[in-house]
Amino acid sequence: MISIEKSLKTYPNHPTRAFLLELEDVLGKNGLNALLRIAGLQVWIDTYPAENFERDVDLSEVSSLNAALDEIYGSKGSHALARRASKATFDLTWKQHSALENQQAADFDSLPAQARNKEGLTIFAEVLSAASDLECEVQEENNTILFRVQNCPVCWGRESSSPTCQGFVGLLEGSLQWLSSDKSFEVTEKECSAAGGDACTFSITEEPVE
Ligand SMILES: [Zn+2]
Repeated sequence: MISIEKSLKTYPNHPTRAFLLELEDVLGKNGLNALLRIAGLQVWIDTYPAENFERDVDLSEVSSLNAALDEIYGSKGSHALARRASKATFDLTWKQHSALENQQAADFDSLPAQARNKEGLTIFAEVLSAASDLECEVQEENNTILFRVQNCPVCWGRESSSPTCQGFVGLLEGSLQWLSSDKSFEVTEKECSAAGGDACTFSITEEPVE
């Protein structure tokens, strides 16, 4: 069983719930229950976190879930699952967060892609940071947008030989798709706290993927 010490840092209920429901969709109820047992999260079997933005989830619970995915499915299968499920959580939860709800994607339409992505991700970074104990910021370096996360919920308390936060990559992919009216941008984790980095840092390509 995975055992990661409590972080005493929090993440909101609704995105965690949506992530579990997406996994349930793919793995089935029994598959998800097995995952929750290995993650040490039996308490969530049949009782997922509530459908609200209160912060009852500890970062270590999200990271235990991701660690259990790795343990059962291997990093390749696990990363694909986590990325897909977290991409869906953007649409199902964050997009409806009050701070983003009024921010129509169309407001960004007049901007060039890079400016739109930078501005939109900066707003998302502020919303995420305000709604959880994540500390997110957006920078631009040599025309590349970088999204940096301290207290990453995917890898909190974990160690890995290489970047492991595909569960966060999916979230950014979901937000970019919303910002750019369904175009896709490639998101790559350049630096990961679990692999010795100062933060989890994700780079976003300047041009959309065909
Ligand atoms: Zn991470």
